[in-house]
Amino acid sequence: MSDIRTVGVLGAGTMGNGIAHVFARSGFAVRLCEVEQRFLDRGVETIRKNLEREAAKHKITSEEVAAAIGRIQGTLDRKSLAGCDFVIEAATEKFEIKRQIFSDLDGILPKHVILASNTSSISITKLAAQTMRPEQVIGMHFFNPVPVMKLVEVIRGLQTSQATYDVVKALAEKLGKTPVEVNDAPGFVSNRVLMPLLNEAMYAVMEGVATPEAVDEVFKQGMAHPMGPLTLADFIGLDVCLDIMRVLHDGLGDPKYRPCPLLIKMVDAGWLGRKNGRGFYKYE
Ligand code: NAD
Repeated sequence: MSDIRTVGVLGAGTMGNGIAHVFARSGFAVRLCEVEQRFLDRGVETIRKNLEREAAKHKITSEEVAAAIGRIQGTLDRKSLAGCDFVIEAATEKFEIKRQIFSDLDGILPKHVILASNTSSISITKLAAQTMRPEQVIGMHFFNPVPVMKLVEVIRGLQTSQATYDVVKALAEKLGKTPVEVNDAPGFVSNRVLMPLLNEAMYAVMEGVATPEAVDEVFKQGMAHPMGPLTLADFIGLDVCLDIMRVLHDGLGDPKYRPCPLLIKMVDAGWLGRKNGRGFYKYE
């Protein structure tokens, strides 16, 4: 664990930029890898804005902002992760994309390096099987927004070693997070329980039981949720919600996980939630 100094992060989207942010804030050198320059630029710009917001609240100094940004090196070349001591993948939630990443990283990185995934629902065991080091593959599932949320689900694949688990648990603690141990199963714990709730809220809207505003108000006022399920779905991203429901449906085979047709229709229309201005609500 003390040997981990340079961390590779694949994907600079919602989660990847948050993960790069917290590693850089905790003193690690970060190599942030994307597929296109514009996504990399957008990710680094988001990190800068979020760090500056922390500085405006006097949580960190402007020197610490500059130092954290200075620790992040962007790249479009996966091979340049070769010198990393630990790599976490936070790319799009599609098995084919992650399969390729894990298979490539296995060829690029020395045998002892741990490969983690921030996947919300894809099998860690299956990702590990794309490599020759299944003992060193693990789930490290952060929550959105990463700099704020304390929880990290640490997911053991079938072959994940105790040594790998111990390193990742200690790493999460070094970032100031609270690791919780979970075994590999579709959706792990968080999305196995959360996503069907969001999906059911969508059915309620689709069937005209209530408006999105009313459904959200029920959960805020009645269950003390800080955010109603439809606001939360918009925040997570409706495409991400649909991908996760499909993993639960395919992986568990129970019709109760059938994605809500309204969710499918909204994603087909390109309404992805807060990130592109339109979901169950409209955003400026
Ligand atoms: P996102 O769409 O915001 O970002 C994904 C990024 O990955 C994009 O910028 C894309 O260009 C990049 N990417 C795609 N293929 C790549 C590759 N081969 N190499 C490098 N980068 C690549 O998605 P997100 O919400 O950040 O989700 C990323 C991962 O985190 C997914 O596995 C998702 O399930 C998981 N996750 C998401 C949330 C959430 O609330 N959004 C929470 C926890 C975990």
